[in-house]
Formats: sequence, structure tokens, C-alpha cells
Amino acid sequence: MQQKISLKLLPSEAANEAVIKALLAKTSAKKESSISGFHIIKQSVDARARTIWVNLTVNAFIDEPFHERETRVFNFKEVSKSQKKVVIIGAGPAGLFAALQLIEQGIQPVILERGKDVRARRRDLALLNKAGIIDPDSNYCFGEGGAGTYSDGKLYTRSNKRGDINRILNLFVKFGAEEKILYEAHPHIGTNKLPHIIIAMREKIRDCGGTFLFEKKVVDLIIENDRIQSVRTADGNSFEADAFILATGHSARDIFEMLQNKKILIEAKPFALGVRIEHPQTLIDNIQYHCPVRETALPPAAYSLVQQVNDRGVFSFCMCPGGIIAPAATAPGEIVVNGWSPSKRNNPYANSGIVVQVEMEDAIKEVKSSAVRVKSGRTLDPLIFLKFQKIVEQKCFEAGGGKFVAPAQRMADFSNGISSSSLPASSYLPGLNAVNLKEVLPDFIYGSLAKAFVQFGKKMPGYFTNEAVVVATESRTSSPVRIPRDAISLTHPQLANFYPCGEGAGYAGGIVSAAMDGERVALQLAKIWQ
Ligand SMILES: Cc1cc2nc3c(=O)[nH]c(=O)nc-3n(C[C@H](O)[C@H](O)[C@H](O)COP(=O)(O)OP(=O)(O)OC[C@H]3O[C@@H](n4cnc5c(N)ncnc54)[C@H](O)[C@@H]3O)c2cc1C
Repeated sequence: MQQKISLKLLPSEAANEAVIKALLAKTSAKKESSISGFHIIKQSVDARARTIWVNLTVNAFIDEPFHERETRVFNFKEVSKSQKKVVIIGAGPAGLFAALQLIEQGIQPVILERGKDVRARRRDLALLNKAGIIDPDSNYCFGEGGAGTYSDGKLYTRSNKRGDINRILNLFVKFGAEEKILYEAHPHIGTNKLPHIIIAMREKIRDCGGTFLFEKKVVDLIIENDRIQSVRTADGNSFEADAFILATGHSARDIFEMLQNKKILIEAKPFALGVRIEHPQTLIDNIQYHCPVRETALPPAAYSLVQQVNDRGVFSFCMCPGGIIAPAATAPGEIVVNGWSPSKRNNPYANSGIVVQVEMEDAIKEVKSSAVRVKSGRTLDPLIFLKFQKIVEQKCFEAGGGKFVAPAQRMADFSNGISSSSLPASSYLPGLNAVNLKEVLPDFIYGSLAKAFVQFGKKMPGYFTNEAVVVATESRTSSPVRIPRDAISLTHPQLANFYPCGEGAGYAGGIVSAAMDGERVALQLAKIWQ
């Protein structure tokens, strides 16, 4: 028989299969020899009290032979002769998962990606980190796999109702991720493993008769009778299809500008902006696990913080234990930081975005130099948040002094408004420049962060410290623009065969939700062509 059993274990016990089997025998009142094996269904760490527990729910095989976990079956079809063809612009999670779903539905995808394949992209990242030279089409946001490729690969989402998370996780496992992502409470893959998974997805798409093209930057949409006939790429080629999925992510500013120039409806979308904080990982372990040294059986500790400051939300974002701060800009002259971790999360630093909600009136105030048309307290400029984002990124670049060196300050100095005379060692490879960030960040961002850090120190004693460094700016938290689409047909209100999708269009925030949105659009296409 198979029995679902929940266990509460010490971390060292949870890491020991023999101990688990012995406990399963005890719980089910059987001999140890009766337990032929088990699958973990759920695993989480409870570090709230002084004694840290690992909660495990397992499916135990009792008095019957053990068999491997059943893998989910996917039905990828040969689509080279499909009657219908869909151009997908962008090979991030939204574009890739849309393509895989289209193939299962017997529809041919043609992926057009402005960047390079993951291997070539790695060389451009090295150039950016070491020499401060950026390729505007190949960087931490652009290229095969999108912004998710060189990330921490955290795979959790709050948008549980928007799609089948389990299916997304199983697809990751099918293409090479470890099975543990299926049961861990906070699964992540890691930067070192993601590229192999993305390559396996690309190979499957091509093997099935899909087309996957690199260095194809879409620059124009050719429209006739309220439908897109084809898209034109920067190299002068054009691609026709029955439908077009736009999955270009939150950093494709040229796409937003092109849509606006063509009078295709887009809307301003509030977002959040702030900084990235870096602490020694040992300090965060020490706070979260209430002990001087982390037990080896425990993962490097994470945290999640939220605070209201003057009626404004300040919250941690994309926390990377054992991680690295990355230069995530997409153009020269701007600083954008983000974070990644390898699968083992074994770097000596813990970094996290700490960001402040930006509202329309904040953006209007800051973008005073551009022609902002305001009516009844609202701007009619759909690019207002994008302009705000750009201004802050450019100020940070200037304050850093060039070559993607980022402006930075020690945390307590930041809140006290004092310039730091030195900075701690940091994982950020292009380097840090000590500046007073009060003079760089918009007042409401600086003021909200300065207060929030003090409050965070009360929630997590030891967090508010000059051992931590504040690095500016974390500005690409979500898209500053929404591309509208009908809630049922998922098409743009002006163009019958145009499907805005993923994070850039404003329908996702993270790898899993972008992947689910890609699938949703693909399924909708299959439905209308049934
Ligand atoms: C460093 C870093 C770490 C991150 N860590 C995590 C994490 O741990 N967990 C998590 O859930 N999320 C993380 N994110 C966010 C996550 O990567 C995004 O939410 C997700 O990738 C969005 O998916 P998407 O497919 O909508 O867009 P994107 O991933 O942005 O993909 C868009 C693609 O479109 C291409 N493109 C853009 N313009 C054009 C054009 N004109 N023509 C053709 N192609 C174009 C781009 O090159 C890109 O490949 C991280 C992001 C970064 C930068």
C-alpha cells in the first residue's frame, strides 16, 4: 500500500534517508523492512522558533515494491506542416512556454529573438561585468531564455489561479531541472543550470518543426484591415503568420515606443523602484536560524520583508541567498541592478531588492522636463513610468562614474544621511562608488527606504547594519507599461490577431507567471482554431 505521512524532523534527520524510513516505519506501526521507499510530496523549513524543523509530507511505499515518481506526459507533435503558424516575438519564459504549448496543440511556432543563444550571450555578460561594455541586444534581460536565464530561477508565484503551476514545474523537470522543484516550498533552479534547460527546450521546439531564430529584433508591425500581416526585423526580413504573440518583456522600451508611434493602445502601469541590499550571508543565516553558524543540512537563509511607510508600500523583492548582484541594464548610460544565485546558493552574500511603490503623481512630479500632459490629475502619457524609470537609472549611472559602476552606501549611513567613508566587499563585479544616495534617488524613494530599513531592523534584529551595502538602483521590478487585451479573447482591442503576453505586457511578474501566461495565450489560439 501507499500512505501519505507527514513528519516534523530536525534538519539533519530530514537529510538522512535511513532516518526518514525508520520514522515512517514507526509512524505506520510497521517494520523498517516494510518501507520499500518514499517520494517527498512537500518540504518546507520552519525557522520561526529556536529549534528549526523541516516539515515533510511523503508518499510511503509500505509492503509493496517502490517505484519511481510518475513523470507527467507531454504530447509534443510534429508541426512543420501545420495549417496555422504563430510568430512569437521574444524567447523568454512567456515565449518559450507559448511555443511548447502551441506544439502540443499541433500549431507551428516561429520564435523571433533579438538576442543571442545562451552560450554566445554568456560572453556578452562577461564583457559587461569585466569591461563595462553593454550589447543592447544581448545582456541580462535580452537573449535566449529572456530575463530568467541568468537568474536565481526562483519558481514560486502568487498567481496560483492563473494557470497550472504544476505543469510548468513538470516541464522544467522534463527539460532537465531537479525533481525537488516539484515539492520544495520555495523551489529554485540556479543560474548554472538554467541555460541547459533552455537549450533542451529550444532543441525540442526545433525537433518538432518549430522555427527558432536569433538576432531577429522586431522593429515594425505591418498592419492591414485591423490585423497584423507580418512583422519586420531590424535586418530587413519580414515574417508572416496567422497570429502574433508579443512576449518581449519589461525592458523592450523600443517596442513600447514603436507601439505608441503606431497609435496602438498602451497604458501607463504603476510599478516599484528602489535599491538592492547586500548583507554577508552568514549574518542573514545567523538572524534567521538564531545560531552563530548555519547547520550544513539547512539551506542558506532567505527573508521576506514588507513595511508601510507614510501609507506607501516598501517591500523586499527577488531575494537571492548566496547570490550575486548583477548589472541588468539594457542600454549604455543607465544602471539597473538585479540578483542571481547558482543552484547551491554558495556565494558569501545575501542580496535582495528593497523597493517602493511608485504612483502616478510621483512619476509626473519627477518627469517634469518632458512634455507631460496632465488632465484631472492624470497624465495621458502611457510612457510616464518608463520615463521616470529612465531618469533614475541615468542619474545612478552618472553617480557611479561610468562603466556600470553602481552608486552605493552603507545601510545605516544611508538611513542617517551620512556619506560612507568606505564600502564593504561586494559581489557586484563592475564595482561600487561610495556616494550619498539621498542626492541621487527621488526624495520619496530615499525617504521611504531610509525609514523602512530601520523598521526592518526591528523585525529582524541585526538586519539594520553598516555591514550591509545599499546599491542603486533596482528599477525593473515589473513592466512600467500595460498593453491592453480582452479578458476573454486575449487579443489587443485594435488588432484581432495580436496577443500581448507575459511580463512586458503587464500580465505576469516572474518566471512561472510569465510561462503560465504564454501557455494561456497558446491555448486560446488552439481554442479558436479547433
Ligand atoms: C537578473 C534577474 C534575475 C531574476 N530572477 C528571477 C527569479 O529568481 N525568479 C523569477 O520568477 N523571476 C526572476 N526574474 C524576472 C524574470 O526573469 C522575468 O519575470 C521573466 O523572465 C519574464 O518573462 P517574459 O517572457 O515575459 O519576458 P523576458 O524574460 O523579459 O523575455 C523577453 C524576451 O524578448 C526578447 N525581445 C525583446 N524585444 C524584442 C524584439 N524587439 N524582438 C525580438 N525579441 C525581443 C528579449 O531579448 C527577451 O529574450 C529575474 C530577472 C533578472 C533580470
